[in-house]
Amino acid sequence: MTSNKKSVGVLPLGDVPEIVLKFIAGHITSCFKLTTQILLPLEQPEYALDERRLQYNAATIIETFESMHFSDHDKVIAVLNQDLFIPIFTHVFGEARQGGKCGLVSLFRLAKNPDGSTPPKSIIHERAAKVALHELGHLLDLLHCEHNKCLMHFSGGIDEVDEMSLDLCEYCSIYLQDKLR
Ligand SMILES: [Zn+2]
Ligand SMILES: [Zn+2]
Repeated sequence: MTSNKKSVGVLPLGDVPEIVLKFIAGHITSCFKLTTQILLPLEQPEYALDERRLQYNAATIIETFESMHFSDHDKVIAVLNQDLFIPIFTHVFGEARQGGKCGLVSLFRLAKNPDGSTPPKSIIHERAAKVALHELGHLLDLLHCEHNKCLMHFSGGIDEVDEMSLDLCEYCSIYLQDKLR
């Protein structure tokens, strides 16, 4: 590599709406100033289905992707419709390893409000972009942040995702610029 500038692949797993992928890619470019490319879809990860929980094991999927080779992309954000879990949580909206190569975004729980009502599509897209940018932040080695408007704030519930802005706080921004230098 001749440049330190990172490129991010946005990878659908299964049948993910194009508009969601474009929205995520657009926000990666505007917020993180990184080039993006929407990749050809791969199959949904049936190998990660936990038969007892009827959810998909995020760690299994990440392990699979971390061992794959994405020649043109330093980081990959995979987007899927299936419900994800990691053993210590009932569910996760997304998952990534600190400084890893591949992050996951699940659309499954983003399409319902805490009161059970269905939000407009625009809200679902915004939530997906927030989760994607948060996970990409972890891939770029950003840690959780205490500012509840910051993209790197930890979200246990959908109301916390809604409270976040689509931007990093000043502190996290400076940290990121330093990482990308
Ligand atoms: Zn996080
Ligand atoms: Zn922050």
